[in-house]
Amino acid sequence: MKPILEVSRLRKAYGSFQALSDVSFSVGRGEIISVLGPSGCGKSTLLQLIAGLQQPDSGEIRLREELVASPSRLVPPEKRGINMVFQDYALWPHLTIYENIAYGLKRQKAAPAERDRKIKELIALLQLNGLEDRLPPQLSGGQQQRTAIARALATEPDVLLLDEPLSNLDMRLRIEMRTEMAYLFRRLGTTVFHVTHDPEEAFAMADRMIVMRNGSIDQLDVPQACYQLPRTRSVASLLGAGNRLSGTSTGTAAAPAVQIGGSVIAGTAPGADLPPNAPADLLFRPEDARWVPAESAAAEAAAALDAWSAAVDSAASPNASPAVYSRLPVQIVHSAFEGSRWRMLALAENGERIAFMHSQPVDPGCSGFLMLQAAHVYLYPQSATS
Ligand code: ADP
Repeated sequence: MKPILEVSRLRKAYGSFQALSDVSFSVGRGEIISVLGPSGCGKSTLLQLIAGLQQPDSGEIRLREELVASPSRLVPPEKRGINMVFQDYALWPHLTIYENIAYGLKRQKAAPAERDRKIKELIALLQLNGLEDRLPPQLSGGQQQRTAIARALATEPDVLLLDEPLSNLDMRLRIEMRTEMAYLFRRLGTTVFHVTHDPEEAFAMADRMIVMRNGSIDQLDVPQACYQLPRTRSVASLLGAGNRLSGTSTGTAAAPAVQIGGSVIAGTAPGADLPPNAPADLLFRPEDARWVPAESAAAEAAAALDAWSAAVDSAASPNASPAVYSRLPVQIVHSAFEGSRWRMLALAENGERIAFMHSQPVDPGCSGFLMLQAAHVYLYPQSATS
């Protein structure tokens, strides 16, 4: 099936600053795409180009195969068959919830009976019953957000653009709403192009995600693939691999490894191969490290590790290669209570700081090892700019 949205070789500069360079991708009908990246990476610029609020310096955008944007062509937003939900919802404050949802349909000159039927359907779908006659300031943040979605869906756009749609909600509501939105859009078969800086929001919503950095795409894949095999250092750290150690590559292309102090740590190189004997970075997530205290009896430590390895291996995908574990010596410096677990701070042999999760606090000064599974240790050449 032909893509509904095609973006090819898009570039946009503000003065001498290149905000987008050579961005290309396509979106299938009914697909939810989340664009994720740190502030300033060009997400909003990309969204505005698709919406028709900006014109590209080079490249093209096609919607339903029709050219809507190029340096010589700019189809205005209202003629693109798209709708946008803004970060601050942009509801009309003097119009009721019903009138807000009706706004686009009135402009489309839909017949009054048909209009009323659609609005009532959306009000039910977005659980806004009983709020029809209220003004936006009389609604909670979550209700305003649902009204903005209802208004955007009313005209049945080919593509719905969402700009950080949950950033004004508190954390509990954000978690609830991102799942609700994903469920709603999948049921309706809506094509969604969604921009966020929150990885969990992208994971919860996306069929595929685009991870951006400095105006370019670092990785475009299904969320699980981006999470399990982050192609660049910056994708890995954006997706939770907050521990970063610098060492020297020692392994082979088939079995990459990095030497940190006196320890060789086996890992995975999801991006470029590591040149031999060259500076390399090792990244892993705090939740992927298992603490084994040095003073515990060897048998006890081995049993704890065996139990953990078995649990980790059984959770891994069936076609994963046999698990390889490495030991990284560390010394504890601090424990912080986080509810269900403790976040521990420790120092590696080379003096770099590491965080990991543990079921109980450990006294500062204790020495031990972090057990790391190669599949969850990401290795990148230091020469790579990302
Ligand atoms: P994001 O949405 O990922 O935070 P933006 O697309 O808003 O990123 O911005 C990308 C870069 O372009 C940023 O460095 C920003 O400061 C710059 N930028 C955005 N809009 C303008 C503008 N109108 N004029 C000049 N620079 C801009």
